[in-house]
Amino acid sequence: MPQVQNWQIGREMEYPYEDAYPERQFAFVFNINRCIACQTCTMACKSTWTFARGQEFMWWNNVETKPYGGYPQHWDVKLLRMLEEANPGRQTWDPDGRFEGKTVFEAASTREGPEGHQRALGYIPTDEEWRFPNIYEDTPTGGDAHSSRGAYDPDGTALPVHRTWFFYLQRLCNHCSYPACLAACPRRAIYKRSEDGIVLIDQKRCRGYKKCVEACPYKKPMFRSTTRVSEKCIACYPRIEGKDPLTGGKPMETRCMTACVGKIRLQGLVKIGEDGSWVEDRQNPLYYLVKVAKVALPLYPQFGTQPNGYYIPPRWVPRPYLQQMFGPGVDEAIDRYVMPSRELLAVLQLFRTTQRIIFRYEIEEGKKVYERTVDGKTWAMYDDTIAGFDQAGNEVTRVSVEEPIHIRPERYVNSI
Ligand code: SF4
Ligand code: SF4
Repeated sequence: MPQVQNWQIGREMEYPYEDAYPERQFAFVFNINRCIACQTCTMACKSTWTFARGQEFMWWNNVETKPYGGYPQHWDVKLLRMLEEANPGRQTWDPDGRFEGKTVFEAASTREGPEGHQRALGYIPTDEEWRFPNIYEDTPTGGDAHSSRGAYDPDGTALPVHRTWFFYLQRLCNHCSYPACLAACPRRAIYKRSEDGIVLIDQKRCRGYKKCVEACPYKKPMFRSTTRVSEKCIACYPRIEGKDPLTGGKPMETRCMTACVGKIRLQGLVKIGEDGSWVEDRQNPLYYLVKVAKVALPLYPQFGTQPNGYYIPPRWVPRPYLQQMFGPGVDEAIDRYVMPSRELLAVLQLFRTTQRIIFRYEIEEGKKVYERTVDGKTWAMYDDTIAGFDQAGNEVTRVSVEEPIHIRPERYVNSI
């Protein structure tokens, strides 16, 4: 099988096709710490793309409560168990951040079936598992060393790590660099666009074999019973292409991103080099968050698909849980997030200030407004101003770290 470079696992890995990379890649950063699980993103997607007959149980975007929630139910637990069975005791990372275990592609050959082995280790969820997109919402774990569902720790809880905890995980297709759905499709109906890396299913070629549903470790392709073919998130590609009349031909973020009430989402297009790595683009906010500040991490990088969704991990959750979900960079990411540098604090203000895709930012320094000591270290906050620019270099947003206060004139005090 061909070998491809996967920077998220720090090594080459097997993939059924030779490497081929887009010029730019659709990518996003979600700040889990800010999500309020309002599901506005979920409904924005549903009301745009999946409101027709046969799509009733189809949620391209979903927000689930971890550790017990999942759509489909148990998606990650089941796959982690399958990988562990394929490579017992060896699904580990070395101290340099290199994954020593098997990815879904490398583990596939360990399972022989009547048709030979799979192209990516996977399973097809039952109908029952797709039925509850928000099961166990707000259900915590805690109480004792082994934890139990819905239990609360009787002694209360405090940072840095809570003993009673849950968090919201926002999910959509990751438009992976090495898509398992694409690798598994016997009809070659799935393709990755060379201009933006968006992964699409050609509805005319698909015959509904469900191999993509089986292979995607994130379970984001879904079978539609009325048309007998599979469908998945299309990254609102007309918006990415600038076809939405709202932005006059300029690239625009997706529906789920722009609707986000908690301001947790920032989506963009990053430059990709010939070898598949991210080209240095220091002033691109996604490049900065993922490659420079390193506060945002991929979801289950050990699966091996090199997903293009990145998450700022929740600071209150026990670290072993986060490490198995986001890989070895968790401690450093949380340390940097809780004591943000001046630049990081400014870039975090960009989230959801415009519907346009931001390709570059600039910071204008402001005055110091606050200082305190945290864990023996001095931390200061500055009222810097950050401006974001679109692809053509036009300024599309400008925001300061401190929100300005507007005092309502007295004659409007009791009016709405
Ligand atoms: S998340 Fe799943 S459906 Fe989306 S590109 Fe990756 S493997 Fe394919
Ligand atoms: S809209 Fe934003 S805050 Fe609300 S659930 Fe979705 S990601 Fe979370």
